[in-house]
Amino acid sequence: FDLKNDDFTTLEELGAGNGGSVMKVLHNLTGTVMAKKIVLIDAKPAERKKLLRELQIMHDCDSPYIVSSYGAYLAEPNICICMEFMDKPSFDGIYKKIGAIDIRVVGKVAVAVLEGLRYLYDVHRIIHRDIKPSNILCNSQGDIKLCDFGVSGELVNSIANTFVGTSIYMSPERIQGATYSVKSDIWSLGITLIELSVGQFPFSDSFSDSDADSDLEDAASHAHRDSLHPPRAPAPKRDSLRVPTSPTTARRRRRSKGVSLHGGGATLSIIELMHQIVNEPAPRLPPGRFGAAPDAFVNGCLEKDPDTRRTPKELFDYEWIAESRQNGVDMRAWAATF
Ligand code: ATP
Ligand code: MG
Repeated sequence: FDLKNDDFTTLEELGAGNGGSVMKVLHNLTGTVMAKKIVLIDAKPAERKKLLRELQIMHDCDSPYIVSSYGAYLAEPNICICMEFMDKPSFDGIYKKIGAIDIRVVGKVAVAVLEGLRYLYDVHRIIHRDIKPSNILCNSQGDIKLCDFGVSGELVNSIANTFVGTSIYMSPERIQGATYSVKSDIWSLGITLIELSVGQFPFSDSFSDSDADSDLEDAASHAHRDSLHPPRAPAPKRDSLRVPTSPTTARRRRRSKGVSLHGGGATLSIIELMHQIVNEPAPRLPPGRFGAAPDAFVNGCLEKDPDTRRTPKELFDYEWIAESRQNGVDMRAWAATF
């Protein structure tokens, strides 16, 4: 059906990112609650074309692992994209609320993301391009779905060199300017899985620090690793350009590595971070904490060389995927805990 601004009642803001904001809205004529993403488009025709293409593909998607679309419309100077409303937070919101996520639930996320990527690629020839916790959504049915995917397959190579958004989930080869491939999404998946299971973005430095100092953040994410509903203070907010580290971490970092940080709310600049991604060894799950199967899977995602990094197809054969499909976690019950 035809969508236009007049037909919606805004209920609340769900969140905002670099690209725009997302509102929970009621479509008055049909009584349908939707999520409406409002993107300010600049006048450049190329950008507009890209968006419209993305929207058309979204509309054609029909998969339990992809957030469905009701359609989109232009409301100058914005484009509005009306999506299926997911009534639970995105996975970044979830772990910031409840702390590190149970590894078996993280296994379900791995399955859903792989299935979503396979669907997008096999059926629509799309590479997602923006896998990260805030683009993995959850609802009270316990469904896990991807949103915010990129441009169409035929145009991938011509568009790959244009700016598609700098993200702290970018693979080493992307940072170095290589063409986007589905393996770049796999890197982002690996980073995402560590972030969810540890409750912290892996490149902030308390993570890589191996001394068993009594860092509050570490303590919190360790203490509740086996609980499905751990009470925990929310993790610090982070956007795609600054990576906050806790004051404790900052002190320790200055002490142990002599690297200067920026003021009270210590941050790692995007440049420092990109440098780390390219030059340091790939992040790993904390050794011995979660078991061999998740470790092997994550390591398969986080090969720095895209040639040795596993493809989605290969990753489907990993033990952890079979294990996670049938691990008995009731996702609906889990989603009811927050
Ligand atoms: P970025 O702009 O860097 O991609 P982001 O993904 O956090 O960051 P948005 O895509 O604008 O930014 O989304 C903002 C928030 O809106 C998300 O974190 C999510 O919590 C919420 N959201 C997005 N789509 C939906 C949806 N379909 N249903 C419910 N909530 C949604
Ligand atoms: Mg998003």
